[in-house]
Amino acid sequence: RRKWRKVVKVLEELEECCSTSVERLRQVVDAMAVEMHAGLASEGGSKLKMLLTFIHNLPNGDEQGTYYALVLGGTNFRVVRVRLGEEKSAILGHDVDRKPIPEHLMTSTSEELFDFIASSLKEFVEREENILEVSQVKGRELGFTFSFPVKQLSVSSGTLIKWTKGFSIPDMVGRDVSASLQQAISRRGLDMRVAALVNDTVGTLALGHYHDEDTVVAVIIGTGTNACYLERADAIIKCQGLLTTSGGMVVNMEWGNFWSSHLPRTCYDIDLDGESPNSNDQGFEKMISGMYLGDIVRRVILRMSLESDIFGPVSSKLSEPFILRTPLMSAMHEDSSHDLTEVAKILNDVLGISEVPLKVRKLVVNVCDVVARRAARLAAAGIVGILKKIGRDGSGGITSGRSRGGTSIKMRRTVVAVEGGLYTSYTLFREYLNEAVAEILGDDISPYVTLKVMEDGSGIGAALLAASHSAPS
Ligand code: ADP
Repeated sequence: RRKWRKVVKVLEELEECCSTSVERLRQVVDAMAVEMHAGLASEGGSKLKMLLTFIHNLPNGDEQGTYYALVLGGTNFRVVRVRLGEEKSAILGHDVDRKPIPEHLMTSTSEELFDFIASSLKEFVEREENILEVSQVKGRELGFTFSFPVKQLSVSSGTLIKWTKGFSIPDMVGRDVSASLQQAISRRGLDMRVAALVNDTVGTLALGHYHDEDTVVAVIIGTGTNACYLERADAIIKCQGLLTTSGGMVVNMEWGNFWSSHLPRTCYDIDLDGESPNSNDQGFEKMISGMYLGDIVRRVILRMSLESDIFGPVSSKLSEPFILRTPLMSAMHEDSSHDLTEVAKILNDVLGISEVPLKVRKLVVNVCDVVARRAARLAAAGIVGILKKIGRDGSGGITSGRSRGGTSIKMRRTVVAVEGGLYTSYTLFREYLNEAVAEILGDDISPYVTLKVMEDGSGIGAALLAASHSAPS
């Protein structure tokens, strides 16, 4: 009985440390808006990089023709072909080909990697165009989604700052990734031009805007997390004078690296960060994204198991980092059977803990709930932080028509495009996030803000950006 109390105490402490009252979320909202300002004011002014994209115009639905995209952001890459019709926002169809990157190419030379990619691209183009007999198409345009940190030089060029996610090709760092791809494409004799080099969040935003012009923010919550949004060019202080247009520009926030003392941090987060290869980096991402949530849960269960014998002898598997993947965590969290058979199965099969009594299984579900809820609510606060920065959170006061005394602004409808497996596949996470956005904004404002899922936006959106930035024919 004393031991039971001990584990309950672990849960209670976790709940307390992870608390995300709406007051606390509002502090995170404010901190996000402040950091965005700082990151726009000067290079290195904030943990938020606030990278320029040189994209001033997003697709609006008037684009026509056939366009391609190539998505490189992890161990797989995708080639996408999008056919656009004559009517507004009419995507007639899209074809996708996925391929794993052979492991040896992730640490070889840029020439070998891009030759492999260009060959796959050529095969795809030949196959698709033969089937549909459109081989007369010349001067094809390609959007290149490259989800690594890039210093953008123009819409269609940029240099690699550093590799992440297991890639290590030293000769590529500091060089123009578009030019390298373009050269490989030419070596293969393919008539295709890299018209846009984009981050995956920017693709998501482009697809959102193509369907609905009120879409001005995009967020990805999958293995990692990031966001971008449409900013006024004159608010980007750090490049004033450099910009020739007076309109807007999409800014890639790299928000995974956001940090604020208002974030509710636990000892599990501190340990996870300390043991990670990128300690002190990507602090927001480590509390929110699919790469990490399961591992936070594993750490809590390990602590419970060490403090009491309710899980039996301490399983050695509990000490194995990342053994509990986030989809398994969500399967336990969303187990709707009355005796939690899925929880028992995962504890047994994955963590090597057998014969767990029902009340202990319930405790595990509670742990998943606390960790997922905190993540979802923090992501929601981040989103509202962006809305605040661009004056769409209603904090300037609203009127439904006439302005009162000049201080009130008319509230506009705003759409946030969302992509990523954590949001789309983890139902409770999605519900917590949506609920928290509404809670922070309040009843008057929240009807003006909509979150919309963009399926494969990072691919289709890049093709749409190639369309809107295609060479004049
Ligand atoms: P990526 O972010 O790797 O490019 P996705 O956007 O498809 O690709 O996200 C995949 C991630 O989403 C997985 O790594 C996992 O963390 C998370 N995920 C996928 N399915 C689920 C699920 N059913 N429950 C919880 N998380 C999931």
